Amino acid sequence: MNEMPQLKNYVFNPAPVPTLAVSGSDAQFPIHRIYCVGRNFADHAIEMGHDPNKEPPFFFQKNPDTIVPLGQDFPYPSETKDVHHEIELVVALHKGGVNIPLENALDHVYGYAVGLDMTRRDLQGEAKKLGRPWETGKAFEASAPCGPLHPVSKVGHPTDGAVWLKVNGEMRQSGDLNQMIWKVPEMISYLSRLFELKAGDLIFAGTPAGVGAVVKGDEMVGHVAGVDEIRFRVA
Ligand code: MN
Repeated sequence: MNEMPQLKNYVFNPAPVPTLAVSGSDAQFPIHRIYCVGRNFADHAIEMGHDPNKEPPFFFQKNPDTIVPLGQDFPYPSETKDVHHEIELVVALHKGGVNIPLENALDHVYGYAVGLDMTRRDLQGEAKKLGRPWETGKAFEASAPCGPLHPVSKVGHPTDGAVWLKVNGEMRQSGDLNQMIWKVPEMISYLSRLFELKAGDLIFAGTPAGVGAVVKGDEMVGHVAGVDEIRFRVA
């Protein structure tokens, strides 16, 4: 028997909890936070003008309600002329904690998805130059198109295999999961020293080289071997 939800005296109705679909099921995965790893592929760090040996990956966040589920379009955002695609493996946690040891970090993973860390590169570039925060470049509305989750019981823990993104059928980004500087257990363990991880957290695991601009009408198809292939139109 379900318990009656406790009624709270909210000033207005709270926004619904953002979710991701679970592949092969009608279950929904409720999203708590979205963490993103920056410069986690050496060739992408180099294309952005950084030395991957001197600068280890770092983290930023997007808001949970920036997820765009498969089947919807990616709406071209406001106040930009340079929106870039970043194809990424997405890690979904069903258990949280602090100071999670490397050895059992993978026990916290519910499953994996393929997502896009869409970026207003012009606003991000300006923020970098001025030493300002990245939210306007990274955490805008609909900045995280993402396919459904594939549970570990179905896909395991992918550690190698192709990661690519095509725009209108043309290959733009191409890499391999085995090129990730920080592997999934290291990301979870390190993040859990900085934040209290919780069930429902997503981690966008970084993108290979080849990031570039899209325009309205473009069709982005992204692929991570052993996980999924996603398709989003820029509207
Ligand atoms: Mn990214």
